[in-house]
Amino acid sequence: MRYFNTFILLVFTLFLTSFNSNCYSQYKLKTIVIDPGHGGKDPGSIGKKSYEKNITLPISLELGRIIKENLPGIKIIYTRNDDSFPSLYKRAEIANKNDADLFISIHCDSFSDTSVNGSTTFLMGLSKSNANFNVAKRENSSIFLEENFKETYKDFNPNSSESVMLLSLTQKAKIDNSTILANLIEDQFSKRVGIRSRGVKQDVFQVLWNTTMPSILIETGYITNLEEEKKLNNKTHQVYIASAIFRAIRDYKNYLESN
Ligand SMILES: [Zn+2]
Repeated sequence: MRYFNTFILLVFTLFLTSFNSNCYSQYKLKTIVIDPGHGGKDPGSIGKKSYEKNITLPISLELGRIIKENLPGIKIIYTRNDDSFPSLYKRAEIANKNDADLFISIHCDSFSDTSVNGSTTFLMGLSKSNANFNVAKRENSSIFLEENFKETYKDFNPNSSESVMLLSLTQKAKIDNSTILANLIEDQFSKRVGIRSRGVKQDVFQVLWNTTMPSILIETGYITNLEEEKKLNNKTHQVYIASAIFRAIRDYKNYLESN
């Protein structure tokens, strides 16, 4: 009988352990979708010597490589790994269909004043200012290069701040985790890479709106600033940016899995 009790206790303990790990497994970071902004017929923002699409791709591929090397348990999926043009809808769909736990869209910023520089990490949310809304408008404008865009986005008018506010309410649930990661990234950029951080901001990005998991859009610097454009095209700087994003993701993963 004593052995039987011990056996029951053992079975019960095993059951509890597996129940616990099942509970926690939903918080794990298992699949990350990396989205190199623009591509193909959409060059993105244009600098003096380069296109945004040709900077976002190598940074994204490097980020995926570093994650695979250091956190081999994480599955990496790219929305594009060449000079192709997946629609914004398609990019979000790739993340949703693959049950991704995180969506990261990589971009470069631009502005008419060429002295402006620095990084900004955006998450989906209400537009806080007109200046932000202009960034969203520009990143959303890829839509107009897509065929059938009227049908695909019939509920979404990227130029209307009203439709944008309505849609963003559905996003509240994933904002918290996106905010944590966005802050970690901007922190890494400013403290470890020496990029001027313009902070974490919220705005309404089509590519973030359609995803169902925590999602962020990183403007890694201004392609319209001569000095920053040079850096953004520099292989070593691209590796620094990717490494900084990786360290933020690693810290975010530890945070998720310890809570
Ligand atoms: Zn962009």
